[in-house]
Amino acid sequence: MNQKKRTEIAELGEFGLIDELTKGATTSNKRTLCGVGDDAAVIAAGRDDATVVTTDTMLEGIDFDLTYFPLKHLGYKAVTVGVSDVLAMNAQPEQIMISIGVSSKIPVEALQDLYEGINFACNELGVDLVGGDTTASMTGLVINITTIGRAKRKAITYRSGAQFNDLICITGNMGAAYMGLQLLEREKRVLRDVENPEPQFTGYEYLLQRYLKPRARKDIIDVLAEEKIVPTSMIDVSDGLASEVLQICKASKCGARIYLDRIPIAKQTSALAEEMHIDPVVAALNGGNDYELMFTVPLSMQEQVMRLGLVDIVGHITRESTGAYLVTPDGSDIMLRAQGFKE
Ligand code: ADP
Ligand code: MG
Repeated sequence: MNQKKRTEIAELGEFGLIDELTKGATTSNKRTLCGVGDDAAVIAAGRDDATVVTTDTMLEGIDFDLTYFPLKHLGYKAVTVGVSDVLAMNAQPEQIMISIGVSSKIPVEALQDLYEGINFACNELGVDLVGGDTTASMTGLVINITTIGRAKRKAITYRSGAQFNDLICITGNMGAAYMGLQLLEREKRVLRDVENPEPQFTGYEYLLQRYLKPRARKDIIDVLAEEKIVPTSMIDVSDGLASEVLQICKASKCGARIYLDRIPIAKQTSALAEEMHIDPVVAALNGGNDYELMFTVPLSMQEQVMRLGLVDIVGHITRESTGAYLVTPDGSDIMLRAQGFKE
């Protein structure tokens, strides 16, 4: 019998799957400057300008758990997730469209809360909600957000622009959102059978905020513009530092060295990681959900970038043939690996 070949998604992983599905997607319109493969697609708009556009989907039970995720925060976070990809192109976010799939178990008031959070984030970022779609869902809440932004073509930062010897910079700190999620999951487990649950979050409020209400780093894009710094490449940190470094290496055909002791990790992140017997470096490398920005600049800009006081230099770009490594304080090299397909 002629049996059709069946490949499990797990064999390819998230990024392998995207590559497989989009390998036939060639572009033919001359205004499509960049298609699949970056944080957003880039479309020419006039001679010097471009529009960037990106879409993100969040599913109940996969990307969020409504037993502890306040809907107002979820609305705020959805906007952050979308805007973050536009910022990663060094573009200014301008419009969003939101589509929702709702099950009958969710009351109108809850959706009003969701939109309160969406509107709050839009006001904060100067973004207009200009449309969307509403459908029924049989599998819980679905949120899709399309985000549109604008930039000068020559200021757009692609994942593919990193050069040999460039410095790798990151904003904020890594792993806090992941530890916030671990804390929420722990309290959910502990309090499952308790009648009036009182979760223990004292001392870890920052971690919760980083997971539930992450801020898009528009401030960074504004400062870079003021300082006339155009990074050679940029990506937002949504899947964890390791995964993003590997994406830059793949797109730029280069290697990288990341120094473990230079990765910024907040005190609360280390404290909870220690309490929960998790290695804080693993949380920082693979945690995800940080929505910070990672970018590269030429070595000659080291002082200028340091003076901003907004970024940490965690490593540098090497030749492709040398691969992507994490360097530990005792000098040993650990090969970086991507994870993907996770919250
Ligand atoms: P990000 O984490 O920055 O949102 P992703 O890893 O989701 O980026 O996507 C990487 C690239 O692949 C993007 O350019 C995105 O538009 C594209 N992409 C992802 N999924 C699909 C799909 N199902 N069909 C076409 N393009 C896709
Ligand atoms: Mg991204």
